[in-house]
Amino acid sequence: MKKVYLETYGCQMNVSDSERVSSVLKSDGYEITESEEEAEIVLINTCSVREKAEQKLYTRVGQIRKESGNDKKVGVLGCVAQLEGETLFSQNRGIDFIVGTKAVGRISSAIDASFKGEKDFIDLGERENEYDWSVDKDYRHSKYIAFVPIIEGCNKFCTYCIVPFSRGREISLAPAQIIRQVLTLRREGVREVHLIGQNVNSYRPKSTEGLEDFHGATPFSRLLRAVAATGIERIKFNTSFPRDFHPDIVDAINENENLCNWVHLPVQSGSNSVLRAMRRGHTIESYFERIDKIRESPRRIALTTDIIVGFPGEAIEDFEDTKAAVQYCEYDSAYIFRYSPRPGTPAFERADDVSFEEKTRRFLELESLQKINQQNALESYLGRKVKVLVEKNSTRNIDELSGHSTCHKVVNFKGSSEMLGKIVEVKISEAKSFTLYGEIC
Ligand code: SF4
Repeated sequence: MKKVYLETYGCQMNVSDSERVSSVLKSDGYEITESEEEAEIVLINTCSVREKAEQKLYTRVGQIRKESGNDKKVGVLGCVAQLEGETLFSQNRGIDFIVGTKAVGRISSAIDASFKGEKDFIDLGERENEYDWSVDKDYRHSKYIAFVPIIEGCNKFCTYCIVPFSRGREISLAPAQIIRQVLTLRREGVREVHLIGQNVNSYRPKSTEGLEDFHGATPFSRLLRAVAATGIERIKFNTSFPRDFHPDIVDAINENENLCNWVHLPVQSGSNSVLRAMRRGHTIESYFERIDKIRESPRRIALTTDIIVGFPGEAIEDFEDTKAAVQYCEYDSAYIFRYSPRPGTPAFERADDVSFEEKTRRFLELESLQKINQQNALESYLGRKVKVLVEKNSTRNIDELSGHSTCHKVVNFKGSSEMLGKIVEVKISEAKSFTLYGEIC
């Protein structure tokens, strides 16, 4: 039995792909190992969102070759594999084979070909019609939480983003397939599912068969209601695209206790001219309408976002608009990034005209503004009870357990390991940086 060591970088889609790669390899007779040293095959599932992704990959391959010579086969998967294709072979002789984002179901054939002596094997082909989206329970990232992809790819072509090129066009999975998967996960003891995709609320399956009994304005809100009806205890979804975020999604959350009270809605900028240059397809006013709808919910929905500062052409007035948006939305948390150009994107052609120092200044200013929002949001839970899925022992304290609330806050509290996997009610007594602390009621 050949041993495979798999390392994964990037978003939850990559984590989810890796879970299925491990599942396929197991059913094809490979063993997945935690030890790089004892593996005969090392797979690197790459992400191209961060800067200098190829360079980091080459450094990593160099390390593997330095430590193990030519003893191991090294395969590259994921977005860098898809975008760079065979140029990776010419740039780095340590890579044995390449498998693109849609070809991961054929990973065993790539490994086989490489062991049979085929040089520079590459598969950037399409996904098989009968691709199996399920994951062997031994390879889920958590015993109690499962990722369920509902849509892959992206049609939006925001000017700074490489995803539509690395992940292809939007393809929605059939509703019946998703519901079947959730029911199976529930039977296997999973308490929480995350419906995932680059833009989940752009969900548009070829047929809505399986959704017709569920009211809802869009296929996505109908899907939410259908998944809620499976009886799985908690449902979260990520990521939402503002233009396609229909108010009915909030109604679905209001109607169904098991749809969690958390929405991640990336704003990216508060300036309409920057949003236009990013080709986001929403204005800040239309974004605020969605925020108002979320804030009107009786369920107190937590709100998180992504923001880019220093996009080409971002004037100081534009940045002021972003600060105003952060003040208006009072996000529970925000991922703030300094813009950096990605080769192959339309924005790469524009002058990167905000200096690194100025980007850093804007980043720090926005971060300190957001920290106040974040602390206020956390403190608003003091004295309140929240439902927490107990996921693991806390890394900080052996007597503490840790999990996420329905509003996606990390909550730590005293308790014993028998509680792992249970949903408990915790009364919040302390709020510090990113974490809530409390006691089981
Ligand atoms: S919506 Fe925009 S930012 Fe999100 S994946 Fe698509 S192109 Fe990238």
